[in-house]
Amino acid sequence: MSIQSLIPKYICDIAPYQGGKPISELAREYKLEESSIVKLASNENPLGMSPKAREVILKSIDEIYRYPDGNAFKLKTAISLKFNLNPDGLIFGNGSNDILELAARTFLKVGDEVIFSQHAFAVYSLVTQAMGAVGVKVPAHNFSHDLTKMFDAITSKTKMIFIANPNNPTGTLIPKNELKGFLSKIPQHIIVVLDEAYDEYLNAEDKSVSFSWLHEFPNLIISRTFSKAYGLAGLRIGFGASNPEIIQFMNRVRQPFNVNSLAQDAAVAALMDDAFVSESKILNNNGKNQLESAFQKLHLEFIPTFGNFISFKVDKAPQVYEALLKAGVIVRPIANYEMPDYLRVSIGLKEENERFIQALETII
Ligand SMILES: *Cc1c(COP(=O)(O)O)cnc(C)c1O
Repeated sequence: MSIQSLIPKYICDIAPYQGGKPISELAREYKLEESSIVKLASNENPLGMSPKAREVILKSIDEIYRYPDGNAFKLKTAISLKFNLNPDGLIFGNGSNDILELAARTFLKVGDEVIFSQHAFAVYSLVTQAMGAVGVKVPAHNFSHDLTKMFDAITSKTKMIFIANPNNPTGTLIPKNELKGFLSKIPQHIIVVLDEAYDEYLNAEDKSVSFSWLHEFPNLIISRTFSKAYGLAGLRIGFGASNPEIIQFMNRVRQPFNVNSLAQDAAVAALMDDAFVSESKILNNNGKNQLESAFQKLHLEFIPTFGNFISFKVDKAPQVYEALLKAGVIVRPIANYEMPDYLRVSIGLKEENERFIQALETII
């Protein structure tokens, strides 16, 4: 008897998620000082976390022996006030990945079809496959979601559609009017999960207004995260907003204490720290200009980004990735996103970007 024979085929077929290489691992493997390593591989906030969140975490630490509030009352209230949302339409996750998975676990059964774009965030296909549902990957157009083709991919088996806006790893953005037009055409028995992990980085004119669409589209689930601009990736917290009926069912599937108490308290503080988020956004815009000029100078193609990362094209991407590692710079290979000639670099501090640029210059 093999263990594999006990496991459903759709689970055996899941390709493991490949995260950014941790600093400690590179230090071990290449005998480098951890402090000399620049990690630009997981779209983390180079400014760290909001100082307000840090203060709250230190204060909350003595409560760790108690179970967290399974309903995240304080955080729910803070978010409903900040974004003018019905608190009954909110759900919290151990990272927004948890929200994506909860959506899948609530709605999908074996054989259902789930539509997402080529080059879209890897977690959509993972959570789809884990349910024995069938991922329908629609070819991208210029690295962006092709909404016309995605609509055409709908069949009688379609149960869910995932959209990342902006998308990772391409950094592309679907204009709001196009997205709204698409949603208006989708039959209401198909759930649309709109992942807005990078919304905080958008300029005012591009910012999502999707929360205001929730009344119009009862089949819409929006996910947001505290991992990126809010700088809390290690605490694991994100949220979903949808109609209260959907949320009620997702809550039945949710582990009762999926979000820890430090994460809940830190998220409330981070949410209030507008100064930190705007500082993060300014730093990101400056870093984007810095990296784009460098790519232009080096005659490297890159995909214009709406996020805190840029995917750029190089000859022999795996070798360039390795050479960057040797130079103590971690970026992200994205061959698993069907982009074998590209690498993705997260936008870091000015000095970190400079280290990356200098290393890249000597390699290519
Ligand atoms: C980083 C990222 C997330 C965030 O995941 P968390 O689980 O909240 O850390 C979600 N969606 C996309 C597209 C991302 O790139």
